[in-house]
Amino acid sequence: MSVPLPLLTPSVPGLRYSCHGCGACCRDFTIELRETDFDALRRQGWEAELGGPFWTDFRGRRWLRQREDGACIFLQQDGRCRVHARHGLEAKPLACQLFPFSFSPGPERARVGVSFACSSVQRGMGAELSTHAADLRRMQAGIPEAMAPGEMPDLLRNVPGTAAEIEAVRAAIDGLLGNGDIAWSLRLAGFAWVAQSLRIANLDQVRGERLAELVTTLATAAPAEVPLLDAVEPSERSWRLLRQAVFARVEDPKLHELRRHGRLRTVLGQWRRSRAWARGHGLMPTVPGWPAVAFDRQRAVVMPGPGPEGDAVGEILVRWLRAALHGDRAWGAGLHGWPVFEGLGMTALNMLCAAWLMRAHAAGSGRDHVTLEDAQQAIGRIDRTASRAVWLGSTGEFLRLAWFCRGDHLRRIATTLFTGGSAGVFAGVSREG
Ligand code: SF4
Repeated sequence: MSVPLPLLTPSVPGLRYSCHGCGACCRDFTIELRETDFDALRRQGWEAELGGPFWTDFRGRRWLRQREDGACIFLQQDGRCRVHARHGLEAKPLACQLFPFSFSPGPERARVGVSFACSSVQRGMGAELSTHAADLRRMQAGIPEAMAPGEMPDLLRNVPGTAAEIEAVRAAIDGLLGNGDIAWSLRLAGFAWVAQSLRIANLDQVRGERLAELVTTLATAAPAEVPLLDAVEPSERSWRLLRQAVFARVEDPKLHELRRHGRLRTVLGQWRRSRAWARGHGLMPTVPGWPAVAFDRQRAVVMPGPGPEGDAVGEILVRWLRAALHGDRAWGAGLHGWPVFEGLGMTALNMLCAAWLMRAHAAGSGRDHVTLEDAQQAIGRIDRTASRAVWLGSTGEFLRLAWFCRGDHLRRIATTLFTGGSAGVFAGVSREG
């Protein structure tokens, strides 16, 4: 038996989880079955009980069957899993047991990521993550790719990194995000600025300790530097590309829809929605489960002002980003195998997509400003696809990110989304204690 990689669970203030049985993940995700999952469910006799197969084969892979409404075939009326209720947690497919956790194997340890698509994680409800250690080790043993050492991610494409360099990057960015003496809006705009600066940096002569110094200097200087940078509003082109990035993150066709509509109709539907997102006028294509809203109303929504409501929105954004950093969901195996600095840029872009989307949720709910509920919904939407949707690891996404970083667009959009426009507004934003 092979020796498992040691696991490292993220330790971030407010990051907690216990399942509260809301059933959201059972309604929202399509679960691929491993051979061991399939055999176990077969032995449990579900085919006879359901009067048909519990799985469906699609494009050469095997998935848990879904009901007409897209929910898992095993989801009960009371929101609980039928397999769990009958045979216990360990009888469920491994992916169902593992959610909201994920493993990102590195050369010496596997980091544990946690998904903010889970409503308990969003709310910080439940036990400290360290209390799940025994369960995580048991699940790791069932996933061969989480047991074996993984590769060290590159810093940039074809620029290999060392463990010390990567840990220096993690520590510097985490130090910026976690600095409660600085207004959260400024920390987040600073993060966007640092991420885009590193994405376009020439690292040929800057390696080892010099790289650590550079990243630390940028992250430390960001809160003072960003308010001094130009207050040019983002261009219409950058808003259009951001809307298209949002589209790429909310589009997630369900298996039963693909089957019902067929390939051609599905592709045509995606093309029409993609055009609507690019235009940015009229009614916004519906985000599943969200109220309909016009693009114009989304634009009119603002972030909450200073006070408890603003701090709650800032807190979940910061907790989400720090969890991604510590759980290796900001680069490498946890983010489509992206190199560190490209992954950081992508993480900053994900943050902007969430900030844009929380305004859409607020507008659809009839509010003129973002609340914690809007932030939870938007972050949950973005995080459910961020590391999972294969198209987000594509060359198209890589080029889109390069464009955002080269033109200072990440920083400008962050400034506008988090402060309402002028960089000078940062000074008036409340500070977390
Ligand atoms: S979304 Fe989270 S809290 Fe809800 S059922 Fe799934 S794991 Fe449990």
